Parts: sequence; C-alpha cells; structure tokens
Amino acid sequence: MDLGIRGKKGLVCAGSKGLGRGCAEALAEAGVDLVINARGTDALNTTAAEIAAKYGVKVTPVAGDITTDAGRAAVLEALDGQADILVNNAGGPPPGKWTDWSREDFIKAIDANMLTAVALMQALVPGMMERGWGRVVNITSQSVRTPIAILGLSNTARAGLTGFVAGMSRQVAASGVVVNNLLPGIHATDRAGSLDLGVSKAEGISVEEARHRREQTIPTHSYGTAEDFGATCAFLCSQHARFIIGQNILLDGGASNISI
Ligand code: NAP
Repeated sequence: MDLGIRGKKGLVCAGSKGLGRGCAEALAEAGVDLVINARGTDALNTTAAEIAAKYGVKVTPVAGDITTDAGRAAVLEALDGQADILVNNAGGPPPGKWTDWSREDFIKAIDANMLTAVALMQALVPGMMERGWGRVVNITSQSVRTPIAILGLSNTARAGLTGFVAGMSRQVAASGVVVNNLLPGIHATDRAGSLDLGVSKAEGISVEEARHRREQTIPTHSYGTAEDFGATCAFLCSQHARFIIGQNILLDGGASNISI
C-alpha cells in the first residue's frame, strides 16, 4: 500500500533504538525525510546513517535530551521550525511503590512523558494547521488502558497526556491534522530485555526462561516487534488515517482483555 507521504518531513523523538527506531524505519520506507533524536550520539548516528542508506531519504540526527528545553530547541532548529509528521517518544519513568515518590519525582515524570509531547505539539501543530495537513503519533503505553501498579509515575504522566490529546486532537482535526496515541504492550526492545534480565536475576532462572514465561502471559505467546509497531505508526501518519482522530490504539497481542 502506498502511504502517500513520500517527500514529507518528520521528527521522531527518542528514535535511535527500540520503538522509536521502528517508527523511523517505517516512515523512511514510506519516503519521509527525518530528523531523529536521542541522547547518546553513537547509536543515533549509526541509526541515521543506516536508515538513510537503506531507504534513500534524508535523515538528520540531533543529539539531546528531548525532555529538556535545550533538547527540544535543537530538534526544532534542525527542522527549521516545521514538520509534517511528529512522533513523540521518550524513556519511561522508573517503577516503585506509591509511597516512594516525591513531588519532584512526579514533576520529572510529567515533564518527560506528558509536557514534552505537549510542548512539541504546541511548537509544530500550528504550522501543520496552516498548511492543512499533519500527523502526530504519541507513544504512550498499554498502562493507559490497564494501569500497572508499580508504574505509578508512568500511569500518572501518560494519563495526563491522554486527556490532553482527547481534547486537542478534536480541536485541530478540521485543519487536516490527525493526532493519535499508540499504546505498546510488551515489545522486544532493550527495555523489555532489561526487564527479563531483572526477573532472571530475582528468580534465579535464565533470561530465555524469563522471556518465555512472560510471553505465555500474552495471547500471541510472543512479544511485539519494533517493526510491527513502526508499521502501525506509519499507517497512522499516512493519507489513509484521515478519519482516525484522538484514538488510543493498543498494540499488546491481546494482553489487556478490553473488548470495547
Ligand atoms: P528503548 O528500547 O530503551 O529505547 C529508548 C530510545 O529512546 C533510545 O533510542 C534512547 O536513546 C531514547 N531516549 C530515551 N530517553 C530519551 C530522552 N530523554 N531524550 C531523547 N531520547 C531518549 O525503549 P522502548 O522499549 O523503545 O520504549 C519507548 C517508550 O515506550 C518508553 O517510554 C517506554 O516506557 C514505552 N513502552 C515500551 C514498552 C516495551 O515493551 N518496549 C511497553 C510499554 C511502554 P538514548 O538512551 O541514547 O537517549
């Protein structure tokens, strides 16, 4: 299927690895020129070079912490202040118990996983509206639908972003701007690997066994992949997504038993 976005310009935040990289690859395959961002330069530069060589699009790496004013200013400068496609992403906050977190911990999580996405939408969506076309995908989490007890900081910040997008997406839709959230369940990225490693150490089992056990909790008996995730993201950024507004699309292999 031709996604109809060849020649568009996109920003993928936190895009050197994992789900962000999956989104960058799928958008590049569809012909989108990209700015991609991450904090570390090695993986970022390698990813940018590999994607550019594989798909023949322009990929500009911009190193920086996207959750800071300076990080966001750097990506906006590289975009000359405008983009057709925005994929918001950042690392998730640490787990813990409800009594663990101070006000500062909440502010940090809300800054990273809510207000960073809001700031980038406020910077880039007005230009999309003026030009009459735009696509935004916010990477959130399955925990928005089925909150995970130990991820209280993430549950809180991502619920805030979800509420913002529910209103904002409907305020911009008539201008041709499509805003949605993608909710990953367990995907085979570095992050999932480090969770498996933690379980293997805690329970004295191999990493493979820890992964196998977790896979059995998912109806597909497998983890999602960054490629699956990226393809869905690219579809939401395509011409065909025109009528999908303000949705929370769950990619979790059926793990959350939500039928409506
Ligand atoms: P990952 O494999 O660990 O990759 C994270 C990527 O984000 C890397 O490119 C990393 O590069 C970059 N990054 C992290 N923090 C950043 C920051 N502050 N500024 C700029 N770049 C940053 O993680 P993932 O599995 O793709 O997860 C992506 C998001 O989805 C996270 O918010 C995670 O909580 C959420 N999620 C993931 C899963 C899953 O199963 N994978 C499930 C539910 C939710 P640098 O480290 O070099 O910055």
